[in-house]
This record gives sequence, C-alpha cells and structure tokens, in this order.
Amino acid sequence: MRYLYIAGKWTEAADGGTSQTINPYDATPLDTLAEAGDRDVDAAVTAAREAFDEGPWRRSTVTERAALLGRIADLLQRDREQLAHTESLDTGKTLNEARADVDDTTAVFRYYAGIAGAHAGRVVDPGRPGVVSRIVHEPVGVCALIAPWNYPLLQISWKLAPALAAGNTTVIKPSELTPLSTVALVGLFEEADLPPGVLNLLLGRGGTAGQALVAHPGVDLISFTGGLATGEKIMATAAHGVRRVALELGGKNPNVVFDGTDFDTVVDNALTAAFLHSGQVCSAGARLIVQDSLHDSFVAELAARADRIRVGSGLDPETECGPLISAEQRAKVERYIALGLSEGAELLAGGKRPASPDLEHGFFLRPTVFAGCRRDMTVVREEVFGPLVTVERFSTEEEAVWLGNDTSYGLAAGVWTSDAGQAERVAGALRHGTVWINDYHPYLPQAEWGGFGKSGIGRELGPSGLEEYQEKKHIYHNTSPAPAHWFSG
Ligand code: NDP
Repeated sequence: MRYLYIAGKWTEAADGGTSQTINPYDATPLDTLAEAGDRDVDAAVTAAREAFDEGPWRRSTVTERAALLGRIADLLQRDREQLAHTESLDTGKTLNEARADVDDTTAVFRYYAGIAGAHAGRVVDPGRPGVVSRIVHEPVGVCALIAPWNYPLLQISWKLAPALAAGNTTVIKPSELTPLSTVALVGLFEEADLPPGVLNLLLGRGGTAGQALVAHPGVDLISFTGGLATGEKIMATAAHGVRRVALELGGKNPNVVFDGTDFDTVVDNALTAAFLHSGQVCSAGARLIVQDSLHDSFVAELAARADRIRVGSGLDPETECGPLISAEQRAKVERYIALGLSEGAELLAGGKRPASPDLEHGFFLRPTVFAGCRRDMTVVREEVFGPLVTVERFSTEEEAVWLGNDTSYGLAAGVWTSDAGQAERVAGALRHGTVWINDYHPYLPQAEWGGFGKSGIGRELGPSGLEEYQEKKHIYHNTSPAPAHWFSG
C-alpha cells in the first residue's frame, strides 16, 4: 500500500479510498494506492500554505536549499537500480531507459542546486543620486505540480527541483497510472529532512484529485505536463484568481531528412526518434519528412528495421520496445492506425499487436510505419503518442521548412543534412522550441525546454525553468529623502 504524504506524514485518504496501479506488461496489479479526495487536496494545499507562510523553507538561504537538492541527487544515485526497476515495472519502458531517466533526474537536481544562487536578482542603476535600486527574486508561493505517465520521475524533477530551489512549497500529483517512482522520490526527501509541508504528495485521478488541486484557491502556480485538452481546461480553471500557469502539452514533431547524410546513421536515429518508449514521448519524431531522391530507399530500410524491433517486457535485457501504458492508450493508437489506412496511408510495418502468446495480456503494439502520407491526414496532424511514424516527401528546402511548420504544435524538430549552411537556415526557420541538427532526443538540464503554439506556455529547464517559480520584486531605496514639490500645499 502506498500513502499520501501531507504535512510530513504518510497518510491514508480521508475517506479511505484506494486504487491500484497495474503492470502494463501483463495487466496484473502492482500496488494499492491511497486515492485522494477533496478533503485530502484541501489538507495538502493547507499544509503547503502554512509551510510557505510560516515555515523555514522560504526563509532558508540559497546555500541550504542547494545542499538539500544536492543530497537528493546523491540519494537518487544510491537507489538508482531500485528506482529504475520500479519505473520500468510501472511504465513498461526498458530498464536501460529507466536507468537513463534516473541519471537525467539526478542531473536536473544537481543543475538547480548549482544555479539556485546565481539567479537571486540584480542591481539596477537608477540614474539618481542617493538611490539604491535592485531586483530581488522571491518564491511565488504554493505550487501545484502535475506530471504525466510517460516520464514520471524525470518530469516531476523538471518542476520540483526549480520550485524548491526558488523557495516555494509544493503539492505534487503524479499520474494515477505511474505513481510508484514519485512515492519513492518523496521518501528520499523525507530522508533528507525536508521540513514538513514543503513537499506534499497526492495520489489519485486527474479528473478528481487533479482538478480539485488546480481549482484550490490556496494554489498560486500550476505547472502541468500532459495532453492539450487537459492543459486548456487547467488554464481556464487557473484564470479564476489569476493564478500562474506553465504548460507542456506535447507536439507533432517533424523530423526532416535531406539527401546526402549518412544513410545508416539517419535511419537508426529516425527509429530512435519515433519509437523510443514506444513513441510515448512528447518530442517523438513521429512525422518524418524525407527528400524525394532519398525517399524510397529510406522508407524501405526504415520499415525493415522497424519490423526487427524486439517488443517485450521492459525488464528483459533483449527488449527494445515495451508495452503502451494502458489498454485505452493502445486503443487510441489503434484508432489512428485505422484512420490512417482509411485516409490512404500505406502500411509498411506493424499496424498490429505482436503475435507472441507471452504478450497477449499486455498493452503491446508493433512499431508502425505509414508511408505515402499527406499533410492533410489526421495521423499527420494530431499527436498519436504511440509507436506510429508517418512519412511525407519533399523536394526543395523551402518545401521542407513549410511542411515542418505546418502544425499547430511547436515542441521539437529534427533536421538531417550534411550542408552546415542548410542546417542553420532550416533550424532558424523552424518554429519549434527545440531543433536538433543531425541528432534527435538529447536534452540538457541547462537548456530551456518548451513549446511554440499549442505545445504550451513557459519553459522548463535552464535559467528560465527557475524563473517560472520566482516573483521579481523591485526595491527602490532613496537614501536621501527630500520633498518632491509636486504640490504647493
Ligand atoms: P492527461 O493530460 O489527461 O494527464 C496528464 C496529467 O494530468 C496526469 O497526472 C493526469 O492525472 C492529470 N490530469 C488529468 N486531468 C486533469 C485535470 N482535469 N486537472 C488536473 N490534472 C489532470 O494525459 P493523458 O494521460 O490522458 O494522455 C492524453 C494525451 O496527452 C496523450 O495521448 C498524449 O497525447 C498527451 N500526453 C502528453 C505528454 C507530454 O509529455 N507532453 C505526457 C502524457 C500525455 P491521471 O493520469 O491520474 O488522470
């Protein structure tokens, strides 16, 4: 049984509600969880409010906060194998991917421990004698941090590390589908002696506990990663009371391939871009845009290699692609496959569940390649969030840029070319928050991450990721006050 963590104590839900998290590999129960209701949400926000208004965290020094984040990084590495195993079981991703997630999470805590003090404010030259003017950065207050199911540990770290570095207090809610690594992370904070109320954990459904958290008037800032429809709803709710929002809402990311790049490298990376974590990645390169002269050989090799991807248990070292997160998510991807076929896409690989009887209870789907795609097809326009890649063709650089920008999203894009000038022109013209040139997927804790258009509002990571959680206050100090003489009386 896993509990809520409120005001420094592990606790059942007030109404005794529970739910279960299941293993996507075989649909068996993994653990029972306390399921938060309205009273628990209120208790968690109240605890965070009191900790912010009266507790020591907001008044602690940057050095103290950085030391605690550094300790969390050490504890994450101490428990690396155990955390990776938990994450792999709960999400279905491979153990190697889960290990990389723990390492990336560690790097995020170390990064914000390192820069917390470097963004404390600045001195302004007022241009007036006797005046001292400065901008100080202060925490925003109570932050509600809502993370998705694809990268539970990593995504919460992008929010939690800067929020705590800035001196805020927090209420976090992982997805009900993948809460286990977040519960373990909260245990590490308890071990590191974070003061009570600074970090509160709610387990429960998005539509109930999540919605109640977002609507709670005691929350000052909401940071959310997930689907567009939920993001729009959260933004509308946050408008009441003019609370701050930061939204990361996924994308439909073009991966543009020019002729002349190393064939094996580009095909290999196109597979990684599309099928890492079974394509359940907000920045997945799910929309390949390939130059005419290369197109036919490229798609043939891509499909042949997609067919060879080994699908199975994330804990099996031979596995390259795990299951999807849930029966609903697989059904959604299968609807897109049917829709793609009805719209005229050519199925070159996958499109079905694996034949192996060992996998029949899990939420598996073979990596799927659709060629002959057009920009007006639904599978090309909408985020599928599964192991499905579409391929369109282009002839000129201008056309490639036009297609790459022909989306209402704008999270990430890739461009593959051996012409450095072309690489810079295309990267400059693409309207996406990250553009990878001759690579796909790497991100850096020190570089901003976020989207143009419907991919979201605000930035995570980098200095901007810290500033999301800071208020800026101008302190103007006149050291030689004298009458202003605006009025004669
Ligand atoms: P959601 O947007 O529904 O869920 C993301 C998080 O928000 C989860 O913690 C969820 O909790 C919570 N949540 C759901 N509804 C509310 C609400 N009304 N108020 C507050 N919190 C809420 O994503 P889904 O899991 O349904 O996935 C839908 C689509 O979103 C995917 O198919 C994909 O396209 C996209 N997505 C994008 C991600 C990204 O990285 N950008 C990550 C995940 C999904 P709970 O899960 O417990 O319901």
